[in-house]
Amino acid sequence: MAKICLVGNPNCGKSTLFNNVTNTIAHVGNWAGVTVEEKYGDWNGNQTLDLPGIYSLSPYSPEEKLTRRFILDSEPDLIIDVIDATNLERSLYLTTQLVELGRPMILALNMGDLLEKEGIKIDTEQLSKMFHSRVVNISASKGLGFDELNKAVEKSLADKKVPSCPLFAPPLELLITEIIADDFMHEAPKAYPRRWCAIKLLEADELFLANMPPVPEKLAEVIKCRTEKLEKVFNDDIDAIIIDQRYHVAEDITKICEVKKDPVKKFKLDNIVTNKFLAIPIFVLVMAFVFYISISVVGGVTTPLIESSIATIRESLHSLLNNLGVISFLSNMLIDGIISGVGAVLTFVPQLFVLFALLSFLEDCGYMSRIAFIMDRAMRSLGLSGKSIIPLVIGTGCSVPAIMSTRTIEHPKMRRLTIMVTPFIPCGAKLPIFAMIIGAFFNNAWFLAPIMYFIGIIAITITGIVSQLLDRHKEDNAFILELPRYQIPTLKNTWIQTWERTKGFIVKAGTTILLASILIWFLNSYNFLLQEVSPTSSMLASIGRVIAPLFRPLGFGTWQASVALLTGIAAKESIVSTLTVALQGQPITTLFTQASSFSFIMFILLASPCVAALSAMATEMRDRKAFWAAVAYQTGFAYVSSLIVYRILLGVL
Ligand code: GDP
Repeated sequence: MAKICLVGNPNCGKSTLFNNVTNTIAHVGNWAGVTVEEKYGDWNGNQTLDLPGIYSLSPYSPEEKLTRRFILDSEPDLIIDVIDATNLERSLYLTTQLVELGRPMILALNMGDLLEKEGIKIDTEQLSKMFHSRVVNISASKGLGFDELNKAVEKSLADKKVPSCPLFAPPLELLITEIIADDFMHEAPKAYPRRWCAIKLLEADELFLANMPPVPEKLAEVIKCRTEKLEKVFNDDIDAIIIDQRYHVAEDITKICEVKKDPVKKFKLDNIVTNKFLAIPIFVLVMAFVFYISISVVGGVTTPLIESSIATIRESLHSLLNNLGVISFLSNMLIDGIISGVGAVLTFVPQLFVLFALLSFLEDCGYMSRIAFIMDRAMRSLGLSGKSIIPLVIGTGCSVPAIMSTRTIEHPKMRRLTIMVTPFIPCGAKLPIFAMIIGAFFNNAWFLAPIMYFIGIIAITITGIVSQLLDRHKEDNAFILELPRYQIPTLKNTWIQTWERTKGFIVKAGTTILLASILIWFLNSYNFLLQEVSPTSSMLASIGRVIAPLFRPLGFGTWQASVALLTGIAAKESIVSTLTVALQGQPITTLFTQASSFSFIMFILLASPCVAALSAMATEMRDRKAFWAAVAYQTGFAYVSSLIVYRILLGVL
């Protein structure tokens, strides 16, 4: 079984090619860098790997490190360099580095369907001569050129044709040749091509040097002395000289192989969509429309339907289990614990499906990349990425899909921070609690609901600033944020993305939420002697009584409020119903004052989210320590903020 790997710039169509030739499902999106992990598939019996999109092989980003390590260490039998043919020069910059790795290679010129439209012609024969490598025209999304590609793969696996490296300027070439001839080169691992080793020595590449014995003094001296001379000739440092030479090579080859007609000046949608003043209002409108369709239109129809079906199922099951004489513990657990808990979550599935479908459409047609681009600068000052705006917006609906959508953020630090702050945005399930408190204590003041969103945004800003101040290993994460072209998404892509995300949500409801629902039901229905009791004397109420003093400084140190917070861990929707049950007919004003009621909703807004969102956080963070640190931070932040606000309100109200 041969090993093939797909390498290329972000957004060049690798995942699309991978999905089409291997019949494997890799997530495809119109984002720069959607392939953040390597993915395996089977292509005509050959093990095929979709590597993350990269612009170079310098080991700066985790993606670059991974790709380089993979190609050098696992010695693939064939590299397919996927090239966005409408962006030949930029793609060839990476090609100049891939050829140095000394593996058999095919250049797959993708996006062939767009060439004519964009007035571009590429002389593939010439390009093939330049790199001494097979070149195939394809269109991954339209399925064009796959036969030729399959044939080229077969031939290359058979003849193992290795590409040649285009030459740099003579003074640099001379030095490279000299280093290659040095005996020290025999010390390099066998799989490392000599030219590549020589260039890495010149660049003093740390990853490479770590795998080599110390460079002999004599050679080090020669390199130092000759490099200094070169730096004088080129008036630049050696790293920059090599980068520059690569650009020259890519530029020269493009000039020889590509003919481009002058683009016709057209009306550009981007003039409006990314306009300084219009971009954000348009984005707000687009998102409002997305939420209106999914939550109001679809949710408006499906939620009551599912709720009434669940009620019917509960009733019929109740009488059925009664008739069968099933013990009340089991029937109550099934009906009040499992069906109620999981059912409440599943009610969201149809609206989430539509929400995911619309979002996937916006991602795939190229719109979301533009919003990320616009927000990037502001977000970066808070340690977040432009792409963080998407989870924050989705978070107004539900934190679970929001946290899942952070996957497109390449940088782990930015991704983790986004995951941690996303629950600060009030999700749909928190709104009924706000409505209840605002109605009972603030005369339904309309402005308080938007204020909750505003508090969420302030919390994100403070967290961002603090994280920036504390970050001692600040890296310059400048990466090329490119704007992909607009296009109509394919049904297959939209379906794959929508289904994958919805499935993720359903699986959560079936696992974590199921267990949490059973646990909360159990604690809420039994006392410590395991006798069935009313919720007011249950274990949960006892636990509430124990932890209530903790909340006294925040103004709501009653057991009822504490129990409501505890059930809120299972699902925030439960807080209202728990409070209602725990109040036993008394008005809510007996439980809170104006100040403490506000402190209460602020704590709910900022403290750790429900168990579904917590489990999404744990999965997406991929680091247990970071997860617990985030939970501790959210809870601590909520506590301190509520305390401060409560004390201030006590003075004001
Ligand atoms: P990756 O980042 O390299 O994995 O790129 P993707 O496979 O996610 O593709 C990026 C975008 O380019 C997606 O919107 C694809 O639908 C689109 N795309 C991929 N191949 C082609 C092609 O041959 N023609 C056109 N017009 N679009 C393509």
